[in-house]
Amino acid sequence: MTNPTPTSPAPIRVRIAPSPTGDPHVGTAYIGLLNYIYAKQRGGQFVLRIEDTDQTRFVATSEQMIFDSLRWLGLTWDEGPDVGGPYGPYRQSERTEIYREYVKILLANGTAYRSYETPEELEAVRKAQLAAKLPPRYNGAHRELTPEQIAAYEAEGRAYVIRLKVPAEGETSFSDELRGEISFSHNNVDDQVLIKSDGYPTYHLANVVDDHLMHITDVIRAEEWISSTPKHILLYKAFGWDVPRFWHMPLLRNLDKSKISKRKNPVSLIYYRESGFLPPALLNFLGLMGGGMPAPTEKNDTAEIFTLEKMLAGFRFDKISLGGPVFDLTKLKWLNGEYLRALSPEAFFEAMRQTVFSDRYLQAIAPLVQTRIETLAQFGDLADFFFKDDVVPDQAVFLPKKRTLEETLAFAAELLTVIEATPFTVEDLEPALKQLGIDKEWSVKENFTLLRTVVTGKTASPPLLESMIVFGKARTLDRLRRFLDTQKKLANQKR
Ligand code: GLU
Repeated sequence: MTNPTPTSPAPIRVRIAPSPTGDPHVGTAYIGLLNYIYAKQRGGQFVLRIEDTDQTRFVATSEQMIFDSLRWLGLTWDEGPDVGGPYGPYRQSERTEIYREYVKILLANGTAYRSYETPEELEAVRKAQLAAKLPPRYNGAHRELTPEQIAAYEAEGRAYVIRLKVPAEGETSFSDELRGEISFSHNNVDDQVLIKSDGYPTYHLANVVDDHLMHITDVIRAEEWISSTPKHILLYKAFGWDVPRFWHMPLLRNLDKSKISKRKNPVSLIYYRESGFLPPALLNFLGLMGGGMPAPTEKNDTAEIFTLEKMLAGFRFDKISLGGPVFDLTKLKWLNGEYLRALSPEAFFEAMRQTVFSDRYLQAIAPLVQTRIETLAQFGDLADFFFKDDVVPDQAVFLPKKRTLEETLAFAAELLTVIEATPFTVEDLEPALKQLGIDKEWSVKENFTLLRTVVTGKTASPPLLESMIVFGKARTLDRLRRFLDTQKKLANQKR
């Protein structure tokens, strides 16, 4: 008998798979860092894949912002849409043919089926379920269509989706590297749509096909994907493929322990970059989340300060704790301050010149003040708000004469929502903000004076919308958010 040749384990390959739906999220950096460390510690490869199959949420500038932000942080990838690699393309919108081919395997082996309901029919089912106090889900009506029924629907020219045929009984289990065995009863797993009626795959199909074709060995992602994992496991099995290892990381949390959200914390990496957070400080902070680094023995101990190299040497995935790590901005600022103070004077000056005092920034501000200036020394008087982290206007300044504080804060919250949802250009913002004023019966003057005072701290300023563009979307939104926060805190103190 010959000895079996020892098979060497597959080389480690991990990926992050952000969707380009807006500003790059701090959670992407957190999961990116963990994947990066995991790969580097094991001599593996780190892949960046862009999951852009949801055309309704697609934002054109988002992909480039993801690349730029991750590079700024120093989390470079070995394969990706912009650097290529052996398993490309790495952008899912360029792989739609692949998914359409692969789903044929599932149709052929009976683990997926075509479902021809119209949106109206599905809605009627949903309403009936809600009325009967049942959780809304697909009722399985087209799971077992006969060839004749299929032919009839086809003859009608009905559009169809392709669904996963989840077994009617039993359960699906998987072993999470951090959490152990997790099981889901099939009663609670819907017949997931795999291919939409427009021919595009859903996240679930594309994600599994790609992780397989890209030879991903370890899926390290946020815990919010746990409930999707049984569908993924069923897909791997339906294809007859090996299942990767899953590591579901604890979600970042707001101070109140809710899932991190833009209403309570800046979540855009652009915000951190433009506000002058240093990449090593932000990485260090994210490395503290989840407890993979040796714990400090006392509060604000310098054991909490470590470089990416130290993380590569000391980070232990088996030490990750599942209690939600709190994203405490005060702590991040403290840490960033430590990094800033550790810079040489030259490096500190250079850091300022790269960000809050860059030529690019000053060049954008200059024309906004040039028309209003009498001596160059007045530059600071006119442009101060561009160089402040916080402006706190007095009620006497921001409150319109005829409005209550409550009304005003409610309108400011609307301003935040509209600015968030509108493309950040003067041409788009102006009509959107005016429309808000019309809808809420706020005069143009009241409307823009409120916005001006929140953004600049004053009732007179360089052109407002142009100034906001230069100041940037992320920081403008943060200013509005902080204004609302501060005012709410003040109001509560008075109560
Ligand atoms: N596209 C998903 C996201 O936006 C990827 C989730 C996963 O890693 O599987 O986070």
